[in-house]
Amino acid sequence: MKNYQSKSNVHSHTTFVDGRDSAEEMVQAALALGFHTLGFSEHAHADYDDCSMAPDQAPLYRAEVLRLREKYRRRIDILLGLEHDWFSPADVDGLDYYIESVHYLPAGEGYFSVDWTRPKLEAARDAFYGGDIYALCRDYFNTVCASIEGTRAQILGHIELVMKFNEKRDLFDDADARYLGPALECATLAAKSGRLVEINTGAVARGHRTQPCPGEAMLRRVREAGGRIIITSDCHNSDFLDCHFSEAAELARACGFKTAWEYRGVEQVEYRL
Ligand SMILES: [Zn+2]
Ligand SMILES: [Zn+2]
Repeated sequence: MKNYQSKSNVHSHTTFVDGRDSAEEMVQAALALGFHTLGFSEHAHADYDDCSMAPDQAPLYRAEVLRLREKYRRRIDILLGLEHDWFSPADVDGLDYYIESVHYLPAGEGYFSVDWTRPKLEAARDAFYGGDIYALCRDYFNTVCASIEGTRAQILGHIELVMKFNEKRDLFDDADARYLGPALECATLAAKSGRLVEINTGAVARGHRTQPCPGEAMLRRVREAGGRIIITSDCHNSDFLDCHFSEAAELARACGFKTAWEYRGVEQVEYRL
């Protein structure tokens, strides 16, 4: 195996929800980059999530992805996936793969989002955790652990999403044992699940972070516990289909990974980093 940068992305969003570009525009961009595989992972419907697909859009989304798969069959493999939020009741049958993600935590009468805006995260901390951000983080990781144990997904999405607005370490200290303990437990469980653990560069493309998610501490633990990784761009804009892939690979190497995995068509294939 020689060093190789993945020519595959299976975490992609489109105008069916909150992406900038249509599914076909994403295919065109993937072809221009020489990709062999592009997977669509639109947000599965959930009542509490304004960024999820409306129920009447789901069949149209499936039909459009299958149309594109046929149209471009000789040039690129197109996969039908979903990004499923852990509390979403949406159907995940009949897909090539899906991604299990935790974006919301139950609280009060409903749910709050950990990645919508920083003021909203701070408001949830104050309203539901008495101002204790570490209690919120512990709840987040416990929920991710429950999702890992309960899911049938092939891929675990951005398992450190709660760091999204904390790159400057001014919301909490991610080296504090109150954070790191639950985070590393979660990383161990993710690794031992055998599912692909995503290194997600989406927040870099959107300007929230300079580093992919999860960060170094969790990734090192995933590696120590024998986990498998996949680099994805969580792409909401066709300009960023392979955004930060080389930096993500560098981070993985720095954490001791020798190989990563990508989808080639529906197969998961290992490659040397
Ligand atoms: Zn997500
Ligand atoms: Zn996503």
